Amino acid sequence: MSLCDGLVVVVPHRFSLRRIPGILEQSRPWLERTASQLEVKRSLMASESDAALPEHISLAAIGEEWAVEYRTTDSLTVRVLERRGNRLVLSGNCGEVAACRVALRRWLNRKGHQYLEPWLARIADELGFKVKRVVVRSQRTRWGSCSRTGTISLNVRLLFLQEEVARHVLIHELCHTSRMDHSAVFWSLVERHDPAFKAHRKRLRAAWHEVPWWVNGGPVAGVPTPG
Ligand SMILES: [Zn+2]
Repeated sequence: MSLCDGLVVVVPHRFSLRRIPGILEQSRPWLERTASQLEVKRSLMASESDAALPEHISLAAIGEEWAVEYRTTDSLTVRVLERRGNRLVLSGNCGEVAACRVALRRWLNRKGHQYLEPWLARIADELGFKVKRVVVRSQRTRWGSCSRTGTISLNVRLLFLQEEVARHVLIHELCHTSRMDHSAVFWSLVERHDPAFKAHRKRLRAAWHEVPWWVNGGPVAGVPTPG
């Protein structure tokens, strides 16, 4: 059965066509229920694709605001170009939402490398931590983490948070280079470098909604944490 173009009934070969009206009448409650469910699904999908591509991007952590423009050309791919006046121009196959999102996420990852790595190095210098290695990744469950070997991973989504909240995550991970656990000693170390850490942690728990839909590509289960 298809309800996209009305109702289409498919029957076996040699099926008596006269039986169809009776069968449809019997199935009416089910048909009506299914039709209204499909309608809800279709309108949800339409609103998702409307919301999928941004006209404006705010990277609050680094104080950058971008106006996004889309220019459709014959190209099969999509390129992102930064233009004067903080204009981000996507050019190419802009009718393809998925291709635009891939291009925007690639641009976002470049921004993450460009800003988060040196920012972590500056805070480390300022507070007297030694960082062995930093990687910026796109993670769905954590804002950041620190491995036993001292590699700090930062989530590129930190760019969307308020500056002091993102800084709090960076300090949290730097403190793990001294203490791997979440003991009282660890939290007092965090507090020494970020006296408002409790308020920042609270804001961090509510911050996932600051990440726009085009980055996550759908609902995320659970709330990410600094690791
Ligand atoms: Zn931690």
